Amino acid sequence: MKLYLRAIFLFLLILLLLSGLVWLRFQNLHSKHLDLRLARFKSTCESIVSTYQLVSQTIAEELLLQEDVIELVHAIVTHEGDERNHYRGLLFRKLSPMYNRIRQYSVRQLHFHFPDGRSMLRFHAPHKADDDLTPFRPSVRIANTERREVHGYESGRIVHGFRHVYPLQYRGEVIGSVEISNSFQEIYTELIKHVDGGNNQYHFILLKDDLWYKLSSGQRENYHPSQLSDAYLCENSLAKVYDMLGGSVMMTTEMRELLDHLRADPAVAEGLRAEQDFIVASCFKGKTYSVLFHSVKNVDDKHAAYIINMHPEDYLVALQGNVRMQLIIAVVFAALLTFLQFRLSMSRAAQLSTQKFLQTLTDHMGQGLYATDLTGKITFLNHEAEKLLGLKEKECLGRDAHALFHVPNDTHEEDVCPVLEAILNNRAYEQQENFFRRSDGVRLPVELTSTPIEKQGKIAGTITLFQDISARQQQERELAETQKRLKKANRHLARIAHIDGLTQIANRRLFDQVLQNYWKSACRHQKPLSLLLMDIDHFKAYNDTYGHQKGDECLRAVAEVIQNSCMRPEDFVARYGGEEFVALLSDTGQADASHIAERIRNNLLQQQLEHKGSAVESVVTLSIGVCSLQPKLTDDPQIIVDCSDRCLYLAKEKGRNQTRSTEC
Ligand code: GH3
Ligand code: MG
Ligand code: MG
Repeated sequence: MKLYLRAIFLFLLILLLLSGLVWLRFQNLHSKHLDLRLARFKSTCESIVSTYQLVSQTIAEELLLQEDVIELVHAIVTHEGDERNHYRGLLFRKLSPMYNRIRQYSVRQLHFHFPDGRSMLRFHAPHKADDDLTPFRPSVRIANTERREVHGYESGRIVHGFRHVYPLQYRGEVIGSVEISNSFQEIYTELIKHVDGGNNQYHFILLKDDLWYKLSSGQRENYHPSQLSDAYLCENSLAKVYDMLGGSVMMTTEMRELLDHLRADPAVAEGLRAEQDFIVASCFKGKTYSVLFHSVKNVDDKHAAYIINMHPEDYLVALQGNVRMQLIIAVVFAALLTFLQFRLSMSRAAQLSTQKFLQTLTDHMGQGLYATDLTGKITFLNHEAEKLLGLKEKECLGRDAHALFHVPNDTHEEDVCPVLEAILNNRAYEQQENFFRRSDGVRLPVELTSTPIEKQGKIAGTITLFQDISARQQQERELAETQKRLKKANRHLARIAHIDGLTQIANRRLFDQVLQNYWKSACRHQKPLSLLLMDIDHFKAYNDTYGHQKGDECLRAVAEVIQNSCMRPEDFVARYGGEEFVALLSDTGQADASHIAERIRNNLLQQQLEHKGSAVESVVTLSIGVCSLQPKLTDDPQIIVDCSDRCLYLAKEKGRNQTRSTEC
């Protein structure tokens, strides 16, 4: 879920960045294009005005500021009444042909003024003169009083446009001024005719504050409020010019509607208020227009009017189309980038989870594990290995495992790690006992197994599992010790179990076992078996006479005599109980058995063990019952014991200290 959220966030971020870049580029190109267009329009307007100024300058210098003209003006100024009118007529007749000619060069007015600012002669209205121009015409006042040429826009009561006023001097004295002017309409005509062909629409609006106070109520009827703003006026006569020029350049319905549309545009309202050059781009009826406003300054360098150019903008439309395409590409690119990043994150998350799983697995496996590359450098180490070696992972990674902690079994240090060597030779390495050196220098006995790591079918390194076997070795040592002790104890136990404690010869239990074995063996080999059952005579009396202690000593002596009297290794002697003994003689018949019995009895007699209490002899004597037989598997071995006992009984009965034998 977190990954999905991150992907969505990334997508939005990339999209935002790319959209931002596209938008910035669009804004940049858009504003550059508009700035360029405005600059071009401004320079076009200024160059037209400059051209007219040049034409006016030429006319003034070549035709008006001539001695004969100056003298006629001087005559007008210095005469009154009819004489003045006479000279005025002369001036009119002199310059009329020239005036008619320069009218063809878009000159609208040729007007002479008196030094006090009154009208001297209007060539477009020769009968109207002597009216005071001072309140409305600062250009005339400046030329007359400051004796300098004045060029610039100036509104008038009837005509307004670009005026060029030249002071007239006669022998150093100002005698008035002469003005050549071009109306807005001429400028307009020039723009239409010579600049940009019919692809442009032009419009003029005049600042009401600059004009309105100069007009009589009758003159005010020649104006109507501008569609763009109530602060501006539009000349009615301009419509005539549109009509006059006709065709594609006229003020079309579409343009009128565009002007109405622009009135609602706050950028236009703001630009008009600022009274500076400005340009707006406007979308109207599915088309994009650039609308340029060139501010016209009056002779006092104050804003007085706007020349407006409206231009359909195919470039901006193309630019917008471009932006749309770039935004689509940005969406696709952001989606692609996000998808790739998402895939990468998914696989990285899976890898991390596998790594975590493996780490957990290796950390809890209870064995040390490390991996090396083919040069023996450690590439991975689990927690158990860190613990066992007393090293941190960062101390091991990239280090040579052999040099760092491996101590080979051989006494001499090896240059090549035997583990690595075995792996490189494609052999597994397994050692029950090996040694690693801990960080504190202690040798750690380990059992290790190394196997090769394969990558794309080639050996890429080793993976070694090892475990501390010091505890196991200790246990093994302890076990061996215990086993040793146990063996000893067992031997002792066996001895206790089968040896009679008093006489140190076999006891009754062992006799029973040996009897079974000898019985079976005799059956197998078809050999005779003899049993001697011996009883000390009047031993109760011995105890009574010499005490129990002495009785024990006597028993040990009798046992020794019996043992020594049976010389074959397979002759088996045991204490049968109390003062009774047995001798089991394998492969021995009755005669031999009786002979051995007698040898025992006589050997004892020879010992001369004093026995004053005996009713038989003054020494210790034995009565012996001997039974010899050929054992059969079907018979119980007890029969030989019973048979011997019967013979013993007989020996006792017949007077003791004798042997009685039988063959069953
Ligand atoms: P008999 O000639 O008929 O065999 O007479 P006896 O006295 O030897 O036989 P009896 O069965 O009456 O007495 C056996 C005696 O042996 C009794 C007992 O005190 C003694 N005895 C048995 N075992 C031991 C022993 O381990 N040490 C000692 N000192 N005496 C023992
Ligand atoms: Mg007895
Ligand atoms: Mg006895």
